[in-house]
Amino acid sequence: MTLPAPGALDRTKLNLFLAGPGRGEGMAIALPAPALGWIFVDGCKVDPGVFPLEALWRRYRQGEEATEGIVLTHPHDDHYEGMIELLDSTSPRWLACVATHHADGGSLEKEIIGRRDDPLLVDGSPLDLALRRVKRLLSRIQNMWSWGHSKRVLLRAGGRLPLERTDLVIDIVAPDPAGTRAFFEGDDLPQRIRTRANEVSAVLQIRYGSSRLVLGGDLPELDHGAGPRTGWTKVLCAYPDLPGSHLFKVPHHGSDGAMHPAMVGPGVAPPGAIWTLTPFQGGLKRPVPKLRGQKGVAALLAGAPTVHLTSLPSGWQSTVAVDAMVPLDALRPIPSPAPPSEGATDTGLASPPCSALDPVWLFTLDDEGRCAAKHRGVRAIEVGR
Ligand SMILES: [Zn+2]
Repeated sequence: MTLPAPGALDRTKLNLFLAGPGRGEGMAIALPAPALGWIFVDGCKVDPGVFPLEALWRRYRQGEEATEGIVLTHPHDDHYEGMIELLDSTSPRWLACVATHHADGGSLEKEIIGRRDDPLLVDGSPLDLALRRVKRLLSRIQNMWSWGHSKRVLLRAGGRLPLERTDLVIDIVAPDPAGTRAFFEGDDLPQRIRTRANEVSAVLQIRYGSSRLVLGGDLPELDHGAGPRTGWTKVLCAYPDLPGSHLFKVPHHGSDGAMHPAMVGPGVAPPGAIWTLTPFQGGLKRPVPKLRGQKGVAALLAGAPTVHLTSLPSGWQSTVAVDAMVPLDALRPIPSPAPPSEGATDTGLASPPCSALDPVWLFTLDDEGRCAAKHRGVRAIEVGR
């Protein structure tokens, strides 16, 4: 079903929106009655100035209901684009982040400012512009945190997002505190932030009555190596009941390195469970998740009957209409790249025009583990065997 008309969202239940056009991922959570409100997890940009989460909030907000908070799971551009605009529009009560200036372990902002002295960084290059944006965002977070303790939520496993209700709680189950401390200590922190920030990605568990939803961020598996760990293996030691949730936002766009068998293996998903993810199309690399072979979507389909993607990676198309469930076999790479044109992505493939609400899934859950309804934007796709 297409997205509900404004005013037609069922606010007696929990509504979770996932947005992702191919690069970028954000979630909007419309909290159920009796205490209406919104929580945003990460940001998302479809095109310059086009932000799905803000568009959803404007379309479905009832009266003057508050924005409880915004969560930045980790400081990667595919998760923070659009967040400054969201902050400006929605005035959240609190802001949750892995670490900034005031945090115990280290300052992401200082390291990113430090990186701007990198002699290899070309002024005005895409990397330079991305760093300027994240620096601006982290400065804003720091500024907001300095307004008072109630504004500040440090993302560490064992904590909980501040909500004044008992029927719905949101636990922070990653990153692991000891592993995060170790991550921020020692030399080469800029290098670590650059290449391994996923390791300190937050993971959230929503408990609403007997419904459980797990939002996997970009946390990788990491069951190898020595030292304090922060990945799924570590999380599952502390939270052995995490698998088998009624909704699972698959971590890190369904990449092979984030697929912990205990979370996505055969038999994990209870009947009717929703597994959902955003694709990631970066540079000339292959798309994530994989759409061919036994990994990627095929591996997920061994654990759940269908997987809900907010869009296809650019460069892929469906040979059948996407308004019903699409078999994995019906997905094909687009044969010849179109010449670069207006709207071309960095892959050289022209992406079809996309409006803010096109690459969006909406899942409406009751408090007994049932998905009462699901709705999709025109780019969102449900893939089955
Ligand atoms: Zn990501």
